[in-house]
Amino acid sequence: MAYLRFKALDQVSTRKPVKVVAPSKKISDYYGENVFGIEAMKKNLSSQIFKKVIAAIERGEKIDPATADAVASTMKAWAISKGATHYTHWFQPLTDSTAEKHDAFFEPDETGRAMEKFKGTALVQQEPDASSFPSGGIRNTFEARGYTAWDPSSPAFIMETASGNATLCIPTIFVSYTGEALDYKAPLLKALAAVDKAAVAVCDYFDKDITKVTATLGPEQEYFLVDEALFNARPDLIMAGRTVFGHSPARGQQLEDHYFGSIPPRVHDFMVDFEIEATKLGIPVRTRHNEVAPSQFEVAPTFEECSLSCDHNQLLMDLMHRVAMKHHLKVLFHEKPFAGINGSGKHNNWSLSTNTGKNLLGPTSKPKENLIFLTFFVNVIKAVHDYADLLRASIASAGNDHRLGANEAPPAIMSVFVGQTLSEMLNELEKNGNIRVDKGDNVYMKLGINKIPEILLDNTDRNRTSPFAFTGNKFEFRAVGGSANCANAMTVLNTIVAEQLTQFKKDVDKQIEKDVKKEVAIINVLRDYTIASKKIRFEGNGYSDEWVKDAEKRGLSNVKTTPEALNFYLTKKARDLFKKHEVYTERELEARVEIMHEQYVKKIQIEGRVIGDLALNHIIPTAIVYQNKLISNVKGLKDIGLEKEAKTVIDAIKDMSKYITTIQTEVENMTEARKKANKIEHGSERALAYCNEVKPHFEKIRYAVDKLELLVDDEDWPLAKYREMLFLR
Ligand code: ADP
Ligand code: MG
Repeated sequence: MAYLRFKALDQVSTRKPVKVVAPSKKISDYYGENVFGIEAMKKNLSSQIFKKVIAAIERGEKIDPATADAVASTMKAWAISKGATHYTHWFQPLTDSTAEKHDAFFEPDETGRAMEKFKGTALVQQEPDASSFPSGGIRNTFEARGYTAWDPSSPAFIMETASGNATLCIPTIFVSYTGEALDYKAPLLKALAAVDKAAVAVCDYFDKDITKVTATLGPEQEYFLVDEALFNARPDLIMAGRTVFGHSPARGQQLEDHYFGSIPPRVHDFMVDFEIEATKLGIPVRTRHNEVAPSQFEVAPTFEECSLSCDHNQLLMDLMHRVAMKHHLKVLFHEKPFAGINGSGKHNNWSLSTNTGKNLLGPTSKPKENLIFLTFFVNVIKAVHDYADLLRASIASAGNDHRLGANEAPPAIMSVFVGQTLSEMLNELEKNGNIRVDKGDNVYMKLGINKIPEILLDNTDRNRTSPFAFTGNKFEFRAVGGSANCANAMTVLNTIVAEQLTQFKKDVDKQIEKDVKKEVAIINVLRDYTIASKKIRFEGNGYSDEWVKDAEKRGLSNVKTTPEALNFYLTKKARDLFKKHEVYTERELEARVEIMHEQYVKKIQIEGRVIGDLALNHIIPTAIVYQNKLISNVKGLKDIGLEKEAKTVIDAIKDMSKYITTIQTEVENMTEARKKANKIEHGSERALAYCNEVKPHFEKIRYAVDKLELLVDDEDWPLAKYREMLFLR
C-alpha cells in the first residue's frame, strides 16, 4: 500500500534515541549563558550605564540615546562573542506565534569594507513592515507602518539553530504608528503597572517599606508528542493541529497508567534536550512528567515576574518545536488534539510579591501578618466574582472550546476553589458581625485567622476540577488553553485585581475617615466582600452535572463558545475597566475583539476545509474501494451457494452506504453553511454563524467517518490511527 501511513509506521519502527549531551554536568554552569541579563549587563556595561538600565527595568525610566548606544554596542560585542551574526526584534503579534525579522550586524562602509554595526536606535526601535500582522482595522493602509520598541525588562537572548547559527533576539512590544498596541505584551505591561500601583496603595496599610508589587507567574505547560512521520501522515494535524477524525483506540487513558508513569526513553531524551536549550536561555524549567492521556506530558518552570514568564513560555514553546525536529517528534500544544482523551491546558499559577520579598498570597506563621494575606486573598476572590465573564473571555479560543466543559477540563463556568480550611475561615468571617475589639490580635483570634498558619503548602486540598483554585500560596488559573499566550489571561487577571484593590482602598478609607480603627475597617470590608462574592466559591466537583445546575441557580454564567465569550470584552463594564486602568483604549479593545473573532472564523474555516477534503478525497474513495471488494465477495459467496453468509456481508455494505451518504450530505451542508457565513459582514455575527451553523456538521461527519474506520480493512485505511499515534515508545 502506498499510503503515507504505512511508510510512516515503517519509519517509526526504526527510530533510535538521539544522543543528547549537556554542556556541563552541572546545570548552574550554563544556566542563562545565552541571555544578556542583569549579570551579563553588570559585567559588560560601565556602572553608570548599568544604573540607567536598571532604572529603566525597575522603574520604567526612559533610556536616553547615549545610553542606548552604549548598551547596543556592548550587547553587539557580547552577541558576536557568542557567534551571532544577526539581530532581530522579537515580539508577540496577535497570532499564534512570535515574530522576528533578522538583520545582519554586518554593513559595508563607503570604502567597501565590511563592519559589524548595531546602533542604539536599532536596539530601541524597528519598523517591521507590519501590514501583514492582524490589526483589526487599526492600521489603515496609508499608515501601514507599525513599530517595535525595546522592552528592557525582558533580557535579550541568543537563539541558536541546530546547525549553530546564532541570532541576537531583543524582546519588544509591537504598536501601530498611531500608538495602539498590536501585540500581547504592551497591554500586559500596562496591566502589571496597574496592579503594582493598586497593590502598593493597599500594602501601605500594613507595611510602608513595600514600594513595589510584582505579579508572578509559573505556567505549567501540557503538550502531546507524536512521531513526525505519523504527524505527516495526518493532514488534519498539519493544517489544524488536531485530529478531526479517528476512532478511539481500544486502550485510551482508562488504565490510568500514564500519569506520572515512567517517561518513554525517546521522550526523555527530547525533554532533556529542550531543557538544556531552555536553561541556556535562562528559562528555569524544573518539572517534567507524563500527563493523564497517553503521549501527553508536562513541563513547568519555576515562577518568575509575570511578563518575563509569559515571554519565556512563548520562547519555550518555540524551542520545543525546534528541538523536536532533531528527535523526529512533533509537539502538539492544541487544547484537544485527540477526541476521547484529555486535552492540554496551561495552568497559570499566579501571585503577587513585594519588593520586601513577601508573597502577598502566602499565609505566614504569624497570625498578625495574616491580615495582609487575608486582604489579598479575599480581594482576588471578589475580583473573580465581579469579572468572571471577562476571565472567561480571556481564555476563549476555538481550541479551548473543546476543553472547557468537556468533563475532563475545568468547566466554562468560572468559580473559585479555596479548600476546606479557608472556606471555614471565610464562613466564620461572614458570621462574625460587628466585632468590637480593642487589641488587634483579638480580631485575628475571633476570626480564626490564627488558624491560617496550619494551612501549610502540602496540606492544601487539591481540586483538579476547578478553573481557578487557591493552592497554598498562589492561585492557579487552570482554564487557560495549552496553545494560548498566557498574556491574554494575565492581562485580564491583573487588571481586575487592580480594579478590585483600588475599590478596596476606597472602601476602607471611607470607614477610617469615620474613625473606625484601621484593622477593624479592613475586616469589615473584607467581610462585606466575602458575603458579596460567596456565589463564586465552589468546593465540589466541577465536572459534575449537578454543578451545572447549581451554578445556574447561583446565577453564574456558563458560556460554552468563543464568539459569545468574546463579546464580554465589549460590555460597558469591560470598556470602563480597561480605560480606567489604561490597559486598552476602546479602539484597541474593539480591534482586538475583531481580530479574535476573525481568528476563530479562520480556525473553524480551516478545520471545515480539512474535514471536507479528507472526507471526500480520502475517506469516501477508500470506503468505496473496500465496498467493491465486499460486493465481489458477496457475488462469490452466492456463486457457491452461501446465501446466508452473503447476507451478513450485504448488511456491512448497506451500513457503509449509509455512512457514505451521511458524509456526502453533511459535507455538502457544511460547505453551504460556510458559504452563507462568509457572506456575513459583521465579524462577531460571522463568528457566531461559524460556531452555530458550520461547526455542528463536524461531529456528524466525524461520527460516520469513525464508523467507516471500524468497517474498512486496516490495510486500506489511509489515515494514521489513534493507537498508532498515541503510544510512543
Ligand atoms: P503543582 O503541584 O500544582 O505542580 P507546584 O508547587 O509544583 O504545584 O507549582 C506549580 C507552579 O506554580 C510552578 O511553576 C511554581 O513555580 C509555581 N508557583 C509556586 N509559587 C508561586 C507563586 N508565588 N507565584 C506564581 N507561581 C508560583
Ligand atoms: Mg499545579
